[in-house]
Amino acid sequence: MKNRLRVLYLSTEVAPFAKTGGLADVASALPKALFEQGHDVRVMMPKYGNISERRYTLREVIRLKDIPIGVGGQEHVVSAKSAFLPETKVQVYFLDYKPFFERSDYYVDSATGKDFPDNAQRFFLFCKAVLETIKLLHWEPHIIHCNDWQTALIPWLLKNHYQDDPFFAKAITVLSIHNLAFQGIFPQSVLPELGLAAELGQAGTDLEFYGKVSFLKAGIRSADLITTVSPTYSAEIQSDPELGCGLQGVLLERKEDLCGILNGVDYGIWNPEKDALIPVKYSAATLKDKEKNKKALAKEAGFPFDPTVPVVGMISRLTSQKGFDLVAAAIDDLLKLKIQLVILGTGDPVYHKQLEKLAKAHPKQVALFLKFDDTLAHLIEAGSDMFLMPSLYEPCGLNQMYSLKYGTIPIVRKTGGLADTIIDADADPTNGNGFVFAEYKAKAMVDAVRRAVEAFRDEKGWQKLIKRCMKQDFSWQLAADKYIRLYLKLETAKKKK
Ligand code: ADP
Repeated sequence: MKNRLRVLYLSTEVAPFAKTGGLADVASALPKALFEQGHDVRVMMPKYGNISERRYTLREVIRLKDIPIGVGGQEHVVSAKSAFLPETKVQVYFLDYKPFFERSDYYVDSATGKDFPDNAQRFFLFCKAVLETIKLLHWEPHIIHCNDWQTALIPWLLKNHYQDDPFFAKAITVLSIHNLAFQGIFPQSVLPELGLAAELGQAGTDLEFYGKVSFLKAGIRSADLITTVSPTYSAEIQSDPELGCGLQGVLLERKEDLCGILNGVDYGIWNPEKDALIPVKYSAATLKDKEKNKKALAKEAGFPFDPTVPVVGMISRLTSQKGFDLVAAAIDDLLKLKIQLVILGTGDPVYHKQLEKLAKAHPKQVALFLKFDDTLAHLIEAGSDMFLMPSLYEPCGLNQMYSLKYGTIPIVRKTGGLADTIIDADADPTNGNGFVFAEYKAKAMVDAVRRAVEAFRDEKGWQKLIKRCMKQDFSWQLAADKYIRLYLKLETAKKKK
């Protein structure tokens, strides 16, 4: 194949091995889509304690055993293991360093609810180990695609520590930002701990961020290309100081090299016609079978089953980003609409408590599952009539796109990727695929849910809407094409230099 690219894809979570949110889905689906288009893609991630070596057939790689990685004057010995992404030929390397990664939590210690105190060391080591491992593989990547702050120091290291290394001479770095609010910010005291000079924390440097150190800022300053996960979010982080999270100026400096590409859906995993995790598979032609999933969900939720009562699903990290403040503020008005609400999520203990109170007060109308449960997530997608995402901001959001495929009508706030994917069905009855509200206010959300409930009462119109939604295609190939075009453009530009 002409223009076959070697793409090294780096993420600290990759589904199904390790997942806390959307990044894991992307980090599995995009490499798959790139591979299917004929490119040589390899993925690297940490080997966490709860990734089963047996279940995923991880193998040792002789050449990649006992790799010494220096961090702050200390030598850490890392080994890599490899496996394939399930049902593909995409190779995944797991970097194994037990003192840092043999944990069941990835970033936040669930015992304390706080970030692990050694996160800077852990992910700095990961970044360095990636570069050393790839050299030992003798596999020179054309593209090094990093994701979020945990891998953002790779472009910086290449610019500052590996600039004369011929092995990386061809490499182009891409940094994708999945959520600008997570930046990897640490006190300046981490610099010597990482073996970096204190001067690197001086104002105006790549790493310095309001007197602290930001891994993400260094990545944004250093990568050849920066992407975010939807066009609207890309514009928002450059224009809205709140969403810019202190990095607005840095992003504006790089605006020629920054673009938003909407994530896709892995229809191999999220498709009611093939979904092995739901009780009854269905398609637009067999919508009666969707109702069987609704029945199963009612049972799971402890609700009396009633086909005439709309079930509204929510699956989410429980953080202030996701709009639970609105749900809590509006609960009485929402429940007056005679809906049943199913919430699956984990996160901030404040929301755990708040939602527990709501569920306790309304057991027939609110079901709450405070856990991470992929099977239940699929059942909620299949068994709900509507899916609520009242996010304060949403870089892309995946569940609204999953919901479309499951004929579960999204109700979303107009922000980020939600604004790029959902069209209000009242405002545009021909193309509408959900219900949209703009203001981040409880009343605006309740109005949108009310409109959805009214539409639900018109059975014929509702079925038509479901069918239109199920037909929509947000497959990864579209997004993968966009990434490939950008990769190739950068490659050509680099060759000309
Ligand atoms: P974010 O990356 O901000 O968490 P996204 O909408 O992009 O949000 O992706 C969230 C992904 O994580 C989806 O695949 C969703 O189904 C999944 N998810 C979130 N919370 C849970 C949970 N408690 N149990 C199972 N899956 C979850």
